[in-house]
Amino acid sequence: MQKKLLVVISIIVIAAIVTILYFYVFKEKGAIEKIKEKGYIVVGTSADFPPFEMVDEKGEIVGLDIDIAKKIAEKLGVKLVIRDIKFEGLIPALLSGDVDLVIAGMTITEERAKAVDFSIPYFEADQAVIVLKDRTDINSVEDLAGKKIGVQEGTTGDFWVTDNLVKKGKVKEEDVKRYGKFTVALLELKKGGIDAVVMDKPAAEMYVKLDNSLKVAVVIKTGEKYGIAVKKGNKDLLDLINKVLEELIKSGEMEKLIKKWFG
Ligand code: GLN
Repeated sequence: MQKKLLVVISIIVIAAIVTILYFYVFKEKGAIEKIKEKGYIVVGTSADFPPFEMVDEKGEIVGLDIDIAKKIAEKLGVKLVIRDIKFEGLIPALLSGDVDLVIAGMTITEERAKAVDFSIPYFEADQAVIVLKDRTDINSVEDLAGKKIGVQEGTTGDFWVTDNLVKKGKVKEEDVKRYGKFTVALLELKKGGIDAVVMDKPAAEMYVKLDNSLKVAVVIKTGEKYGIAVKKGNKDLLDLINKVLEELIKSGEMEKLIKKWFG
């Protein structure tokens, strides 16, 4: 009888030890620990979105988002590696583990939040319609009816055009041209292949500033909020990102960075 009791107690003790070992020794490493072990953080972005991310004369990717990414890398004490991916491929790259975070002027949407976790918002923006400067017939959303419209695939500009023009029968689905990069959409606009490009207002204004053959013809109030995305469940990394953003906002440094990049 006593022997039986001893066996039961032994089993319980062994099970307890195994459980404790499992949680403390074999526990899945957190995202931060993995990044620190690598010695670098891989940040995914789409470098066609000035002044958040763009390629400068030296071929380097720079911008407001890149400065924020630098602060995150600094806080982690690791090097920063930037990977330039077309916007549509950013969330898949995060899910497959190719990048550790995404910072790309990405709007926090309900749909995206089903796939990834977002930081606190760090910027607010609307949409805008870009046309050739000498164009006089596009001055409102209604004027887009029957036109050929370029968007960057998978962006909120794409969703806005689909929901407000295609689904309402104002623009034919085949007249919405979806491009991987904004730069290609704008080239097509200049060649006359499309009538307008819908994109986030801050980037639209930057493109127009750089190219005086273009103008912003319409502003579409959407009040979108940009957030940094991480893989779902990477709470330790998300907490650190939020801390960096909160510090930047509270200290007034974010305002300085915005001034630096928007002029
Ligand atoms: N804010 C837009 C979106 O999230 C566009 C971002 C971008 O093109 N980089 O869809």
